[in-house]
Amino acid sequence: MLWLSMANHVEIVEVAPRDGLQADPADLSTDQKVALIKRLISAGHTRIEAASFVSPTAVPKMADADALMAAVPRSSGVTYSALVLNRIGVERAIASGVDEITGVVVASETFSQQNQNSTIEESIDRWRSISDAASKAGLRRTVTIASAFGCPFEGRVDQSVVRDIALRLAETGPAEITLADTIGVAVPNQVADLFGILGDCVGDDSVPRGHFHNTRNTAMANIVAAVGVGVRVFDASLGGVGGCPFAPKATGNVATEDVVYMLHAMEIQTGLDLNALIAATEWLESLLGHTTPGMVAKAGGFPSPPTY
Ligand code: ZN
Repeated sequence: MLWLSMANHVEIVEVAPRDGLQADPADLSTDQKVALIKRLISAGHTRIEAASFVSPTAVPKMADADALMAAVPRSSGVTYSALVLNRIGVERAIASGVDEITGVVVASETFSQQNQNSTIEESIDRWRSISDAASKAGLRRTVTIASAFGCPFEGRVDQSVVRDIALRLAETGPAEITLADTIGVAVPNQVADLFGILGDCVGDDSVPRGHFHNTRNTAMANIVAAVGVGVRVFDASLGGVGGCPFAPKATGNVATEDVVYMLHAMEIQTGLDLNALIAATEWLESLLGHTTPGMVAKAGGFPSPPTY
C-alpha cells in the first residue's frame, strides 16, 4: 500500500526507564536502572527517556533521577530526556546533564488536577517557563499532550481542546509535540484524525510523535494508523512495562519489541536489534520479578532468527 510504503524509517523513543518503571510494582536500584539503560543502548536505542525530575514524595521511584543521570553511559549518539513539570524540575534536570526536556499538558481539566494539581491553563504557563529555561540552556524541548484521546474521569476528549492546546504549545517552538493515549482508549481512525488536526495546526514547525498505551489492545493498530498519516516517531517501553500511577488501571505501554517486530516485517527500519530487545526483556523480567505484557518476547521473532 502506497501510504505505508512511504515510511522506510521510524524512530523509537525508549521510555521503560521512566514511564515504564514509574508504574511498575518493583523498585529497581539506581545501578539496576543504569544496567537497563546499557542494555537498551546495546540493542540500538539512541533516544531514552531516562528519568523525571518531579517531587520525590509524589513519585518516589524517580527520586534517584540526579544519581541516575550521573551514572548513565555517555555514548556518542545517545540522548537522554527527562520529564519535568515545573521550574524547579527543569533546573534540576539541566544541572543533571540531560539532553532533552519533556513537558506535559493534560487535555482534560479533571485529569490535569489529579496529575499535576493545576488547570490546563496553568500547566501551559508552566510549560512556557520550563521551555524558556531549557531553551536558554540549549536543550532540545519536546512536549506531550496527555490524555489526548480520552480521560479516565471525563471520557472522550474533544478534538478542539487538543487542537487549542497544540496551537499554544507550538508557539513555544518545541522540536516535537507528542499526542499521548495515556489510558489506552484510542482507536485507529481517531488517531489518524487527531494527528491530521495536529499537522494542520502546527505545520512543519514541530514533529508529531505518538505515545500509545496498550491497555485495550489497540496500541499496535494505532501506531500503524499514525504511520499511515505520516507520524515517524513513537514512544515504546521494553516488555510493555509501565502505565501511569495517576490514571486508574492505565497499565501497559506498548512493548518496544512488539512494535519493532511489526515495523521490520513491514520493511520499516528502526535501527534496533529485535533479538537484543527480546533478550533484554527476559533479563528485565528477572529483575522485576514478574512477566511483562509484551508478546513478541514470549513468541520470539519470525522467521527465527529474524532476517529483518
Ligand atoms: Zn505513558
